[in-house]
Amino acid sequence: MLVKMEDRLDPDAVIEEFEALSRDAGRVQKETLKKILEENGETEYLLKWGLDGKTDPDSFKSCVPLVTHEDFEPYIQRIAHGENSPILTGKPITTISLSSGTSQGKPKFVPFNDELLENTMQIYKTSFSFRNREYPIGNGKALQFIYGSRQFKTKGGLAAGTATTNVYSDEKFKTTMRAMQTSCSSPDEVIFSTNCEESLYCHLLCGLIFRDQVQVVSSTFAHGIVHAFRTFEGKWEDLVSDIRRGELCSQIKTPSLRTAMSKVLNPDPGLANMIYNKCLGLSNWYGVIQELFPNTKYIYGIMTGSMEPYLKKLRHYAGNLPLLSADYGASEGWIGANVNPKLPPEFATFAVLPNIGYFEFIPLKEDSNVERQPIGLTEVKIGKEYEIVVTNFAGLYRYRLGDVVKVKGFHNSTPELQFICRGNLLLTINIDKNTEKDLQLAVEAAARLLEEEKVEVVDFTSGIDSSTEPAHYVIYWEISGEASDELLKECCNCLDKSFVDAGYASSRKLSTIGALELRILKKGTFHKILDHFVELGAAVSQFKTPRCVGTKNHTVLQILRNNVVKNYFSSAF
Ligand code: AMP
Repeated sequence: MLVKMEDRLDPDAVIEEFEALSRDAGRVQKETLKKILEENGETEYLLKWGLDGKTDPDSFKSCVPLVTHEDFEPYIQRIAHGENSPILTGKPITTISLSSGTSQGKPKFVPFNDELLENTMQIYKTSFSFRNREYPIGNGKALQFIYGSRQFKTKGGLAAGTATTNVYSDEKFKTTMRAMQTSCSSPDEVIFSTNCEESLYCHLLCGLIFRDQVQVVSSTFAHGIVHAFRTFEGKWEDLVSDIRRGELCSQIKTPSLRTAMSKVLNPDPGLANMIYNKCLGLSNWYGVIQELFPNTKYIYGIMTGSMEPYLKKLRHYAGNLPLLSADYGASEGWIGANVNPKLPPEFATFAVLPNIGYFEFIPLKEDSNVERQPIGLTEVKIGKEYEIVVTNFAGLYRYRLGDVVKVKGFHNSTPELQFICRGNLLLTINIDKNTEKDLQLAVEAAARLLEEEKVEVVDFTSGIDSSTEPAHYVIYWEISGEASDELLKECCNCLDKSFVDAGYASSRKLSTIGALELRILKKGTFHKILDHFVELGAAVSQFKTPRCVGTKNHTVLQILRNNVVKNYFSSAF
């Protein structure tokens, strides 16, 4: 569809608006809190805490407690069951989002409403405007590996789906994408098919058909792009043959996909030959994205936090194309936009949009997990780490999101946050403290040894095995090929040594923590874990491999245990 000039986004105006908001972040925060409390002051939840119409930050903090999802769950359940009195919000909640829940083992319900949708568009437009200043794009398409999840009705008849599904299915999303000249190259049937594998195949096919128009290759999370091109490695010949014949291969069974694809597929032997030759000319798929989609300006998606381990592979597929890390938010609500798109993903930061919620920050005491009093958005200090607390227009009040962020600087008076990790501690048995980042660094160090035999770590997770005395860390690896026992034993020792936390090292020396165990998984195990989450209602778009699997996460633990092919114990201490 042609975009009329007046429907186009005006990046300068968006940037100007953001500059004004961020210059006055303190005042905007107060006003935002006032607005939230005025709109929702008569709800059961806020009445319970006796705010009595007060809307200032001090009264809010002294009356309303800090809470976690667990505290909100009974309220959200009642909403989902169809109670329509004002429980958390003045305006009724009509939609529920399922957060990916990869850390808890089951998706969490959170409220979704028009304000969250508006915030999403504001975040998209803001970061796009900054991106476009550095990497302008023309009229074209985006090869977006995005997937709607199953949508269903709650007991009370509310629509429920993942936050991304709720966003993608709204007309506003499409209008915004058109305004940003990055409409998805695939038709809706591909985005919303419930068969993710078939959907991915069709996304790839649409991308190839519209290869000259593709300007951006993206996915919500970087994992989605890596997953797509790993799949491409195995399916490229089928894709080429479909283009040659102008017909979808018979493995794609879903009727809606077959109908939708028949509208865009025409026999094109010239294109098929070109793609075939390009693929043959690649060395180990290096630069495949750049080669196949020659007008791509950049690759886009969340690349921070638990996505960092995929960057190496993504860079390999990207060739010389820049990787631009996307914004920071959660199903519960958005937090910040990446307004420095030129920073490499490892250094990406997110400038908080002060009008989309009221934000508080719990300082983390260095080297310990002791908490202190939360402080306001403009009071945070550069270099310090905080746990983030959200109050927003969708009925969350002083909600601990569970993420740890570090303040890297300020954009005018709003902080620029670096994402550190989900929750603070991932692996801990006694006095040892290791975060998701520590695990990632240990895995990176050990994976470098594997490179000697040209083998890669496809994905990884971890856990604590308390069935031994003393308990020990378990690292699970799925690897891309065969590696010798000797080398894997060396990797296992390297992992053990790479947890440099003093508590861990001393506990290992004193044998109050047992030898680290490396368990090698069958090929495709992480795919099974992804399928499991998708069955629970999660969307591939939102999938994040759980980096630590606790004992409560029975099914994932069972999948891991059933797929171990070899294991090694460290002799590093
Ligand atoms: P979900 O519950 O599926 O909505 O996932 C939300 C969580 O994903 C956040 O709380 C973060 O832990 C993580 N996340 C979202 N955006 C980013 C980002 N830009 N960088 C790192 N992690 C992120």
